[in-house]
Amino acid sequence: MPETGARVQVLAPFPVGRAYDYRLPEGMTAAPGDYVRVPLGKKETAGVVWGHGGDEALDPGKVKAVLQKYDCPPMPEVHRKFIEWVARYTMADLGTVLKMSLSVPDALQPQKTAQAYTLPEKMPEKLSSHRMKVLDFLFDGVPYRAAEIAKAVGCSTMMIRAMADAGQLRAVPVTTPAPCAIKAVPENTLTFSDSQQQAADALREQVAAKKYGVTLLDGVTGSGKTEVYFEAVAETLKQGRQVLILLPEISLSAQFLERFERRFGVPPAIWHSEVSPAQRRAAWAGVAAGETKVVVGAGSALFLPLADLGLIIVDEEHDASYKQEEGVMYHARDMAVVRAHLGGIASVLVSATPSLESMNNVREGKYDYLHLSARHAGAKLPEMHAINLKMTPPARGQFIAPLLQQALRETFEAQEQSLLFLNRRGYAPLRLCRTCGYRFQCPSCAAWLVEHRYHTKMQCHHCGYTQPVPDICPECGAEESLTACGPGVERIQEEVQALLPEARTLILASDVVTSAKAINDAVRQIERHQVDIIIGTQIVAKGHHFPSLTCVGVVDADLGLSGGDLRAGERTFQLLHQVAGRAGRGEKPGRVYVQTYMPEQTVMQALIANDRDMFLAAETQERERAGMPPFGRLAAMIVAGSDELKLDLFCRKLAQGAPRYDDIRILGPAPAPLAFLRGKHRRRFLIKAGREVALQKFLAEWLKAVKVPSAVQLKIDIDPQSFF
Ligand code: ADP
Ligand code: ZN
Repeated sequence: MPETGARVQVLAPFPVGRAYDYRLPEGMTAAPGDYVRVPLGKKETAGVVWGHGGDEALDPGKVKAVLQKYDCPPMPEVHRKFIEWVARYTMADLGTVLKMSLSVPDALQPQKTAQAYTLPEKMPEKLSSHRMKVLDFLFDGVPYRAAEIAKAVGCSTMMIRAMADAGQLRAVPVTTPAPCAIKAVPENTLTFSDSQQQAADALREQVAAKKYGVTLLDGVTGSGKTEVYFEAVAETLKQGRQVLILLPEISLSAQFLERFERRFGVPPAIWHSEVSPAQRRAAWAGVAAGETKVVVGAGSALFLPLADLGLIIVDEEHDASYKQEEGVMYHARDMAVVRAHLGGIASVLVSATPSLESMNNVREGKYDYLHLSARHAGAKLPEMHAINLKMTPPARGQFIAPLLQQALRETFEAQEQSLLFLNRRGYAPLRLCRTCGYRFQCPSCAAWLVEHRYHTKMQCHHCGYTQPVPDICPECGAEESLTACGPGVERIQEEVQALLPEARTLILASDVVTSAKAINDAVRQIERHQVDIIIGTQIVAKGHHFPSLTCVGVVDADLGLSGGDLRAGERTFQLLHQVAGRAGRGEKPGRVYVQTYMPEQTVMQALIANDRDMFLAAETQERERAGMPPFGRLAAMIVAGSDELKLDLFCRKLAQGAPRYDDIRILGPAPAPLAFLRGKHRRRFLIKAGREVALQKFLAEWLKAVKVPSAVQLKIDIDPQSFF
């Protein structure tokens, strides 16, 4: 361990590419991984000792001293390696990646204790009945805070303090215990089917082997995948090691947390953007100390410095939201596999509609594969129907075809629930003037404004710009000439209300139910059958289990297929397959109606036939032919600026300066699909290469010689998932 006066390198959570030298002051020792406080420019910051000091050429007088070493467990070596790996791969600054791990600097400080109260050493005599009630409440000796006692007993906190002053209560300091500090692991109480048992055994063996491995756990919704991977969780807990379960943020529902608690007796620590600062602090400190055993979180939970991680689960592994589109642009599923590899531990990818990438890794023997074929307790897959909108369209001005209307009516009369799925928020995607053809466009994006009646405004879904809905056309001044074009969920609700006035409807869309709590409330309402017809965007596709839901209608199945996205077909299949899986999860069988103008498309054919393998085979063949991922590699470079001329000039220079290699193609510069976003013009290069090419090396070589003007932003996206 470097001694006093020695130098250490400290990495700070700022956009810096490397760690810098600092001096250890008198009496301080520190080793790599230790958290320290250092001066940085005019500020002070928490950082991590990254290595022993190296730069001998540095003037010793210029090397600043470490200010403080925090008294908390060091960041594990494997976690530091992980940070370095992510930075290298995504071409982000090392310090920027560290920042994701140092997201709760507060947690480095010793936990503040709170004042709590318990029974006195000697029972007081002669107490008022009010005060007696307080002692009754505290009879088992567990200390409570004044506010908790006051609430339970119905007295003031002042009285509690007065009792302590009078020796009728004893004040004791307490700290919040680490969340999910599981000590004993309860046994599974379910009777598994044969295929569930086999899968659970295989996963348990993986964990017991204590070495790197990736297993793809594939099975239709409701086949028991969660119960099965809980067995791997249990095995890891028995080893005394920690588990990380990743879920798309949106599915971090109360339903999941309750199930976890039912299985393991305590709730898991949770980690996502809505978690309170206090919970964050407790989770960070708990996992760093190794006391918190299970974290369930969004992709960002990968950056928690877990002391002894033994297993990573990535549920809904195909979900597009695992790719971060802001800041460090990493793919959480892919980085989870990297983390498992670095740590030599097991990982499980879980999905009812696995990504083509993961299926291909199975095919190539890189991942193990487990399949749960049947739904638990024999619940049947729903009956699938296509509604060809060219042959049997809805009535003019409507969006629900007669066949689907009929199904909604029957379902309502049978006192069962229906779900109408349309992946578009608001009332109408476009508003135009019937007289002059004027369309409302966002002033800062190349996009139409979406009309929202619920919030009575028009909104840009790309930058959030809003304006009121006008009565007259701003172009030609015509009155009552503005008309809504196309459907959003709000307009579908209106149509359903006209069709079945008695039915209770509910919209589930991210701008109407805006918090995790609101989503949970809505889910409860549906579970209690206080809603007959749900109209929802993609937030309804996720893991919820509604036993009385027997009819699903997809209003516009073609919606996701437009645009040049590489994965448009795959995403559409996954999304609609998941939505369809909401039907008939209980005792009663379900049916699904898919409205489409393209029933002959492979995606629709495969969906209707419930034939995922057919879809995957066709899509794999297509990607292989085109040399697209996973058979080739892609990187995107988005260049943006408000001055279009200067931007194009820079892009031309950039293109000219590109190094040339036979196995790397540079496409562009081309206007990005959203060529104008938030007031900035955007150009895109797409770099396409063979599978074995080190794209990062190529990009670094290219950009080394380039000076990016300050008015231009350049962003690199390795393995781009969205092409906007
Ligand atoms: P998936 O994760 O594949 O969607 P789940 O694990 O959520 O499936 O299982 C669906 C439902 O069936 C859950 O309510 C679960 O508790 C229940 N279930 C699964 N397997 C069994 C079993 N062997 N015995 C009893 N209930 C089960
Ligand atoms: Zn906009």
